[in-house]
Amino acid sequence: MDLRILGWNDHFADHWKINAGRDLRPGRVVEEQKEAYRVAGEDGEMQAEVIGRLRYEALDRSAFPAVGDWVAMHTLPAEGKALIHEILPRRTKLSRKVAGERAAEQILVTNVDVAFVVMSLNADFNVRRLERYLGVIRESGAEPVVLLSKADLCSDTGKATADLVAVAPGINSHILSARTGEGMAALAPYIEVGRTVVLLGSSGVGKSTIINRLLGSDAQKTLEIRSGDERGRHATTYRRLFLMPSGGVLIDTPGMRELQLWDADRGLDDVFEDLAILGSKCRFRDCQHQTEPGCAVLEAIADGTLEPGRIDNFKKLKREQQFLERRRDAAAQAEQKKLWKRRHRALRHHYKSQR
Ligand code: GDP
Ligand code: ZN
Repeated sequence: MDLRILGWNDHFADHWKINAGRDLRPGRVVEEQKEAYRVAGEDGEMQAEVIGRLRYEALDRSAFPAVGDWVAMHTLPAEGKALIHEILPRRTKLSRKVAGERAAEQILVTNVDVAFVVMSLNADFNVRRLERYLGVIRESGAEPVVLLSKADLCSDTGKATADLVAVAPGINSHILSARTGEGMAALAPYIEVGRTVVLLGSSGVGKSTIINRLLGSDAQKTLEIRSGDERGRHATTYRRLFLMPSGGVLIDTPGMRELQLWDADRGLDDVFEDLAILGSKCRFRDCQHQTEPGCAVLEAIADGTLEPGRIDNFKKLKREQQFLERRRDAAAQAEQKKLWKRRHRALRHHYKSQR
């Protein structure tokens, strides 16, 4: 298999140079399940696990491979399996906080160039949620692109388009219907050889239908990396990686109920840059935009150029981020302790077995 069709490009080839002469090969993680990985490389797809050193040296979850990662692996063809020695430096990393109470990171996907945020025009379109997604994507290093799907179910797309301009200035967006095919042609330029695109969005917004359209109905059967898999399942609970007939990689994520912030502080500043610019025009430097005279933010709200919900959401998201960071510090300390214990145990075991 040619690595370029898996998304390999000059960036990774450059990083690979340090592995010259080692008995390691590049592979891309296409699926992850509790530290068991499916990795695709020159010899096709195989099962893989990480070597002990990588595990012992891991300070947190982000030191483990995630879907989208390029890894240096030692293949054992006879066993049809591979050992992952290293993760190549990630070009981009899309993370969220794990669902539930724990303050821990979940990497959704890495090394994507473009993130399509899919929202359906009939029910799902919500600018506040969109702002959250955009903050996370901006932080990841990928380029966000908004797809408003199911246009065939929406008689008036004007309102959504206007809302979008207000919350996503400078971000590309496309109105489309994967059912009728309307607007789909606009997506092709994003998906090229050596590039990777991820689709994000709530369950039911039409991500799979878009992917099927892009692949062509027959193409999916032959090109899905998991095809021919003896397990024969196509569970949507796994993230999946698809190869476009014309080159380029698409990654589907399982429907997300919530995208909790993990590390989106700079991303949020980026997405809400218009507010900072506006705020710099307030008469008082420390203006809280509440009741102060000469407040440019309040003026923008009054004349209708700024929708009040946007600034509320910015504050809310920033608070969520700050709250998380405090909990993360505490959680990190506890985690560190646990890791040292584990390492200590492993070492003791190691010496015992050598006696
Ligand atoms: P996913 O969970 O985001 O992958 O969503 P799916 O692709 O599974 O689509 C969810 C439902 O919406 C399915 O019943 C699709 O047939 C339907 N659907 C997807 N795209 C469109 C569209 O463009 N128009 C209409 N009318 N229905 C669509
Ligand atoms: Zn102000």
